[in-house]
Amino acid sequence: MAAYLATTDELALPLGEAEFARLDLPNRLAVLRARTSGRIVFTTSFGIEDQAVGHAIFTQGLPIDVVTLDTGRLFPQTYDVWAETERRYGATIRALYPDHRRLETLIAEQGIDGFRNSVAARQACCGVRKVEPLRRALAGAAAWITGLRADQSHARAQTHFLAIDSVHRVIKVSPLADWSRERVAAYVKAESIPYNVLHDQGFLSIGCAPCTRAVKPGEPERAGRWWWEREEKKECGLHGRLAPSVASPAGAPIPLRKD
Ligand code: SF4
Repeated sequence: MAAYLATTDELALPLGEAEFARLDLPNRLAVLRARTSGRIVFTTSFGIEDQAVGHAIFTQGLPIDVVTLDTGRLFPQTYDVWAETERRYGATIRALYPDHRRLETLIAEQGIDGFRNSVAARQACCGVRKVEPLRRALAGAAAWITGLRADQSHARAQTHFLAIDSVHRVIKVSPLADWSRERVAAYVKAESIPYNVLHDQGFLSIGCAPCTRAVKPGEPERAGRWWWEREEKKECGLHGRLAPSVASPAGAPIPLRKD
């Protein structure tokens, strides 16, 4: 089976969107692994989508680097499901932490909960606690797997199975892009996958504790994230500029934007 190399100047998709769409979740990950040269990183926040993806990786023993970004502000329940996941699969999940100098500077400048003061202050906190550690997690990787779903929010509606992330210079893979939340929940239940108990208490999307609340019935899935902000497009900065792969056949090199 041919493998396509990621280079510093261009990235080649290991398979096409149509082929990817026909596969079930375990095979999406297995075929991706088989056709990709180099390190593949899966970043998990232990939300229900990530638990489904992690299950498919661990139960197949795929050589994929499973990492989490521990911001230091996570819910106790998130650490519980982290530990339970390690027990269930006999794995140790690699954690990346904020650079302590940057964090100390941030806290000195804005205080411990300064992220509530403005969108810029919040983005600065996410930058130190999430975005910079993610950059280190993806350094030198060929591909990055996420648990994004297209129907999570307007901002994520254009999520593709495969895309070129020109910021991190990796192929970004979202194997649940076409799954609904109900389908994820059914899969987790059928496979007895451990999940964060906060999901049973109205927390549909779970991030840092001070920046996440439960959502009311009928509210958008991500309405509980940074709920005090008015901006519709609320993201932490992990999922930035992408060149989607829809028109790109497998193996066709896609030049990276130099931005
Ligand atoms: S979600 Fe909140 S606490 Fe977590 S990194 Fe972003 S601003 Fe900071």
